[in-house]
Amino acid sequence: MTHYDLLRDCNMRRLFLPVRIIGLSTLAGMLIIPGQTQIQPSAHALGNLDDALLHWPLPAGEERYGAIDGKHLHGYVVEQAAISRRYRDQGHPRFWGRIIGTSGDAESAECLAEKFRRIGLSEVHIQPFDLVPQWMPQSWDVAISSGGKTIHLDSAQPDYASSGTPKEGLDVQAVYAGLGSEADFAGKDVRGKAVFTFTMLGLKPEGAAKRADSKGAAAIFEVDMLPGNMRYQAYPAGTQAPAFTVGSDDGFAARDLIAAAPAGQPPHVKVRLDVTRVPNLKTALVWGTLPGATDETIYVVAHRDGWFEAAGDNAGGVASMLGLAEYYAKIPRSQRRRTLIFIGLDGHHNTGEGSGVGRNWLANNKDKLFAKTALMINCEHPATLQTYVRPRYQEQRDIVWSNTALAQQWYAGGPSRPELQAITTKAFREFGAPLYLDPNTQPPPGDLGQFWRFLPGVASSEFYDYFHTDRETPEVVPWTGLESSTRAYAKIIDEVNQLPLSALQRPPEK
Ligand SMILES: [Zn+2]
Repeated sequence: MTHYDLLRDCNMRRLFLPVRIIGLSTLAGMLIIPGQTQIQPSAHALGNLDDALLHWPLPAGEERYGAIDGKHLHGYVVEQAAISRRYRDQGHPRFWGRIIGTSGDAESAECLAEKFRRIGLSEVHIQPFDLVPQWMPQSWDVAISSGGKTIHLDSAQPDYASSGTPKEGLDVQAVYAGLGSEADFAGKDVRGKAVFTFTMLGLKPEGAAKRADSKGAAAIFEVDMLPGNMRYQAYPAGTQAPAFTVGSDDGFAARDLIAAAPAGQPPHVKVRLDVTRVPNLKTALVWGTLPGATDETIYVVAHRDGWFEAAGDNAGGVASMLGLAEYYAKIPRSQRRRTLIFIGLDGHHNTGEGSGVGRNWLANNKDKLFAKTALMINCEHPATLQTYVRPRYQEQRDIVWSNTALAQQWYAGGPSRPELQAITTKAFREFGAPLYLDPNTQPPPGDLGQFWRFLPGVASSEFYDYFHTDRETPEVVPWTGLESSTRAYAKIIDEVNQLPLSALQRPPEK
């Protein structure tokens, strides 16, 4: 695909966008995800999802923030999800997304730069970076057999950076190890075997994969008990043995097979995983600037990468960043006290050596870039639909959707910046963006992690049921939450612009 084709493609998608959004909303109740037993929940009695969502009215005196429109921003989420699906459909059916170093990454960068230009930002450019060889699983298969019955665990997804198997694969005994605690392993010999452990968001982390590895497991399968048999792309487990996550339907089927096997005849697992490290790939930072009345700066950043459709993590964040760029581009330069710099980051999903190469470059140039910086807002997962897993007395209902956005973890400069913290809580409250009662002591995990020790940073974020799964679709990013968070970010920028640098800058924290 040429550069020209790509730009035309971006433009075409924009033309078709309104149709797509309407299509999504009205179809939300009927969508069946291929390969999954569950039907996507719908708003039913509440009407279609877009209309059902609780919408916070603009407070009196804050009418100007009405220009930030959540439905419009949600269109950017839909567009980025489409970039992911295009990459998937170009021969990458199981390890897909806007993955750093791939054509999906390049398309995301081009589209973002094109949008920055269209909004009217200046100095728009794509700054390329070389990547160390990138982990790319090529193909895999996991099957468990017992008593003449074989189940292929299609939801099995190798943990990021997992080692592969020998070419011919492994054929080993299966062992059930419960939640993976020491008690679960007591009396079991897992050496040279395929170990199945079970976990779920909200349970105490047991370090099951590492424990199985230390006891000599040949392959490790962590079943995610969240309903829906989702594929979940995990960060590295740090094990010697190949490690996978497995969806709940497949995981419970494997458990039942282990339970039903006659004594002395445990089921066997055949597992094959072909991984390579692909050299000579590139990623990029995408820059755009909105010059202000002074050379003091405010940075707004958002990581572009993500797995599967990556709607929440982090198409929502990129959409929020674009919303802020659009909002401030319409305000006269003389009324923008500080220069706004927007950066689409390369991100961090390629965990390990060489990850965050663009972000590292920013941090390494901090004296040059951030000497006069009043604020960095990291837009990362700013809107997530509130869902419930098997509500009490409704255990058969799996994951239930609500009509509101989830409260977020947050950080606003820490205890040494009480003014920034007060501005932030007030802004989120005013625009109806729910927060945890107390801030995190450090930013929520994400890209502000590299900057908060020397920059006044704000981030709000949540990591919920569909996080990193193949069900993290645009529907689970509520336009209302996107709107509330983005309006709050704008309000924070405006309030920070009332403060001198000295009220915000601090010596680097340890
Ligand atoms: Zn993220």
